[in-house]
Amino acid sequence: MIPAAPLPMQPDTVPAPVPAVAAGAPRWQRLWREAVRDPRELLALLGLDAAAAGISDAAAAQFPLRVPRGFVARMRAGHLDDPLLRQVLPVDAEERIVSGFGLDAVGDGAAKKADGVIQKYRGRALLVATGSCAVHCRYCFRRHFPYAEETAARDGWREAVAAIAADPDIDEVILSGGDPLSLATPKLAELTALLADVPQLKRLRIHSRLPVVLPERVDAGLLQWLSALPWPVAFVIHANHANEFDASVDAALAALRGTGAQLLNQAVLLRGVNDSVDALAALSERSFAAGVLPYYLHQLDRVEGVAHFEVPDDEARALHAALAARLSGYLVPKLVREVQGDTGKRPL
Ligand SMILES: *Cc1c(COP(=O)(O)O)cnc(C)c1O
Ligand code: SF4
Repeated sequence: MIPAAPLPMQPDTVPAPVPAVAAGAPRWQRLWREAVRDPRELLALLGLDAAAAGISDAAAAQFPLRVPRGFVARMRAGHLDDPLLRQVLPVDAEERIVSGFGLDAVGDGAAKKADGVIQKYRGRALLVATGSCAVHCRYCFRRHFPYAEETAARDGWREAVAAIAADPDIDEVILSGGDPLSLATPKLAELTALLADVPQLKRLRIHSRLPVVLPERVDAGLLQWLSALPWPVAFVIHANHANEFDASVDAALAALRGTGAQLLNQAVLLRGVNDSVDALAALSERSFAAGVLPYYLHQLDRVEGVAHFEVPDDEARALHAALAARLSGYLVPKLVREVQGDTGKRPL
């Protein structure tokens, strides 16, 4: 995922169907299917009273709850303010209309090169491999764009790969979404086989939250695919809080590193989740312990329904300065925001 790259596509109000899992399908697909989708079930699992939680059925109807059970297991039972729970629970505050928070925070139709290919910055193009995610993060701009499944996959990748091949300046492809690892490994292999014929490509980047929220996705098939890629790989995960890591995540990340991939983390600064120096420092230290360097700390995109997560810029700068005063330089992520028309993420 890239939290800051909405797509100029039609919102699709029909909830995505739960995909059927064939017999003999990889284990992660079954775990994906078994994700918690009912806010009341989630609260019951955590021993919390649904009546007191301020659940919003309207918000859940607009952007359904989805959270893998392994991620739920990392939440602290009995704590409504748990930083992982807050990221996924649909609540009343999402229904508030707040000025400055629209439906299209940083959309840019001009950046679309082809179906599923977005280029905003020099040298690198985003390939929207799929609209699916294993977890639905309440703060994500995606809540307003439940993209049709398999956006660039629809035509067997042909148009997308042709658009990339036609631009000699693109030397890095970023697999994004949604979450690109939502796709089955053979589908990913099909895509990279086509990209392998694009001579100017020097790097492949993958943006995925799956190693954190569903570490079982990092299975033997995925590792084999990654190890055989003809380019150096940058793998950008997404964790916002140290509690998102556990032994299963550590193992998945160690296996990813074993393929030679460079691991980076991007986080979003979120009120009530990681808006303290202690939480941000713990996130950096825990990421590094798992072999992952901090990359970006994003100011969130100002889309409808996320205002209660926002941390004002002044406070964000102060937190970042305090973080830099506390940690080794390489443990300090860049504090950025996406601004339409900029040549890259804008430092705050
Ligand atoms: C964020 C983003 C990138 C990646 O930017 P980096 O600064 O290289 O991480 C690329 N393309 C688009 C459209 C983006 O939104
Ligand atoms: S994993 Fe979460 S943050 Fe990333 S694209 Fe999906 S919903 Fe958005």
